[in-house]
Amino acid sequence: MINNLFDSARLKLTFWYLAIIMAISIAFSLIIYFSLTREINWGIHRGKLRQQAEQMGINLPRHLPADIESEFPRLKNLADCPECINDIKEAQRRVILSLTTINGAIFFIAGLSGYWLAGETLKPIKQAMDDQKRFVADASHELRTPLTALKTSIEVALRDKSLNPKKAKEIFKNNLESVDEMHSLAENLLILAKYQQKNQKLNVQKVNLKEIIEGAVKKVKPMADEKKLIIKTDLEKIKIEGDRQDLEKMMVSFLDNAVKYTNRRGKIEVRIEGKKKYVEIIISDTGVGIAENDIPYIFNRFYRVDDSRCKSEICGFGLGLSVAKKIIELHQGSVEVESEINKGTTFTIKLPFKQN
Ligand code: ADP
Repeated sequence: MINNLFDSARLKLTFWYLAIIMAISIAFSLIIYFSLTREINWGIHRGKLRQQAEQMGINLPRHLPADIESEFPRLKNLADCPECINDIKEAQRRVILSLTTINGAIFFIAGLSGYWLAGETLKPIKQAMDDQKRFVADASHELRTPLTALKTSIEVALRDKSLNPKKAKEIFKNNLESVDEMHSLAENLLILAKYQQKNQKLNVQKVNLKEIIEGAVKKVKPMADEKKLIIKTDLEKIKIEGDRQDLEKMMVSFLDNAVKYTNRRGKIEVRIEGKKKYVEIIISDTGVGIAENDIPYIFNRFYRVDDSRCKSEICGFGLGLSVAKKIIELHQGSVEVESEINKGTTFTIKLPFKQN
């Protein structure tokens, strides 16, 4: 479907490129043709007059005036010279042949380069459409699991003749979990769609990174306490230009993962280090780690390293890191990851002090 749309748009664009180039080329060819034939006409005419004048012993001036025949009535008019007319016709024929060949070559070259150019012009649009298609497919796939669970549970409950209020309450509780899951997915998808817009604008202001990180730590603290995790912070008071809300969201994503993927009684550390032009935020944990093979993909949308790890605890949808990376990129920053299985993971985020 997308390929058909892309191909037909490419052909249409090629046609318009070609139409414009050929219109210009034909217009120029006509101008060249008419001015050339006029010059040829006048050239042959002049040559013939000089030949006649020489035979008759008439001395003609170097520059012949346009009304030469009225000045020298003895000279024969060009109309009385059939071989001159033949010469002119032959010259016209040659001019037409050359111009047609040139136009043919332009048509061929413009057609090929127009087709290539149309492809290049439409490439980003095709990429965006492909991306959109994948996004919808991935989102639908993610929604299917909680929806199926919900549907099955309701169907079983409806068929259950011995359903009493206590059992029904238990079923509702489970159903609510599926609904919460879908709600969280919808929210994440909305956030991601917002950040994916090319002209997404940040609400840039001077922000205190220490405050932002402390705010994010506060949000994950209850979950960390539940797992008896220690969160150690070493935060300098550094101010940078950025979007407060987005930066906090980005920090929550990294910390939330650190909490999720660190076993009970583990340790999470957050540090800020000011460099010359940028600031480094280092988040390390003593968690399960990420295999080397998986590292290149963890920032991809919907990428989860190991789904089986999520059975016992609430897991995300593989969107957290892709949203976080998008926020970092919008702030002209970068992120690196180092990890070792069963030892832990360290994310190093670099953010510039100033936004251009
Ligand atoms: P999710 O919502 O599944 O956590 P993310 O996009 O946040 O998705 O992360 C993608 C994957 O990267 C996770 O499924 C997890 O396997 C891995 N990951 C991210 N952070 C960590 C971490 N601190 N320790 C171990 N694995 C991590």
